Amino acid sequence: MQFRDLQKQYKILKSDIDYAIKQVLDAGNFISGSQVTELESQLASYAGVKHCITCANGTDALSLALMAWNIGEEDAVFVPDFTFFASGETPAYEGAVPVFVDVEEDTFNISAESLEQAILQVKEEGKLVPKVIITVDLFGQPADYPAIRKIADKYHLLILEDGAQGFGGKIGEQMACSFGDISTTSFFPAKPLGCYGDGGAVFTDNDDWAALLRSYRIHGKGSDKYDNVRIGINSRLDTLQAAILQVKLKAFREYELRDVNHAAERYSCQLADYVRVPFIKEGFYSSWAQYSILLDSEEERNGLQAYLKDRGIPSMIYYPKPMSRQTAFEGMDCVKTDLSVTEQLCCRILALPIHPYMEAEEQDMVINCIKDFKSCRS
Ligand SMILES: *Cc1c(COP(=O)(O)O)cnc(C)c1O
Repeated sequence: MQFRDLQKQYKILKSDIDYAIKQVLDAGNFISGSQVTELESQLASYAGVKHCITCANGTDALSLALMAWNIGEEDAVFVPDFTFFASGETPAYEGAVPVFVDVEEDTFNISAESLEQAILQVKEEGKLVPKVIITVDLFGQPADYPAIRKIADKYHLLILEDGAQGFGGKIGEQMACSFGDISTTSFFPAKPLGCYGDGGAVFTDNDDWAALLRSYRIHGKGSDKYDNVRIGINSRLDTLQAAILQVKLKAFREYELRDVNHAAERYSCQLADYVRVPFIKEGFYSSWAQYSILLDSEEERNGLQAYLKDRGIPSMIYYPKPMSRQTAFEGMDCVKTDLSVTEQLCCRILALPIHPYMEAEEQDMVINCIKDFKSCRS
């Protein structure tokens, strides 16, 4: 069994993907082909945002946003402690100070309450200027934007939505990657919408920021590539990846999102009496980058992972370590707050195989294994 079966997806989309790739090879327009701008307008219209700027990966997407806002020394950037490293790495790389904030116990997303406390703590210490909140749409569910936006407005902070795992999610009818002042996503192969290598995108409604993002993405270009008006980076999405994404976006919209939600529902119905299943807020919709359950203890979590492995079922731990405890942040300028929920989650969480092409029989194997494991322990 595969954790996320990309070969199966390819088998089903093969003729369209092979044709799209062949068109790029025949035209030889490997960089900045027309597929890139076509994809950008398709992604912008899907997310309901004015501008989409594609780039080389989801990490660069975050960096580009911070560059456009000129975030650096003495700026405080608030980041959830329970996320992939890039969310905290990028503000630190720009010279800003990451402030680690705890998450909600039920959704695993940044806690509005802990965020406000962290902002007050930084203001009271008086050394840093609070500038940006990086919200993460963890495992596919949008963060609580109604609550976070209120806090951002109250303290005059910008929201950078890290939608690397959240593309396709919604609150009501509003799509993920439209909640931030700038929002980003990743097309890493295992993300909800993935390409066949690295890729990413930045979204914003703001014309000035969009122009800056387009410039920073290509060596700080001015009127053309050989007119350089600022120090930028080289971070383009190549034409092959854009062509592949155009095919995959169609499947994503037409049935993949629906099918992965169906699979998640099936897990939750069958497992709710045995383990803590994911909690989706009223009116929220997840794109299920991960389906993560909570066990009672670290010992039980590790036991279940070994039990599944012996039976050929892969599972993953996202994340085994709070970001604030990564070696890279040791002795570095950063601010820690009360992070006790994150500490707990790292010990108890386990992600199960899920993807839009998962068969009911495969899912039943996983479900029965978990039931057996729980019953032989009680
Ligand atoms: C994957 C991921 C990123 C980085 O995306 P890459 O395309 O791998 O650079 C950033 N933030 C989160 C939350 C992610 O899951």
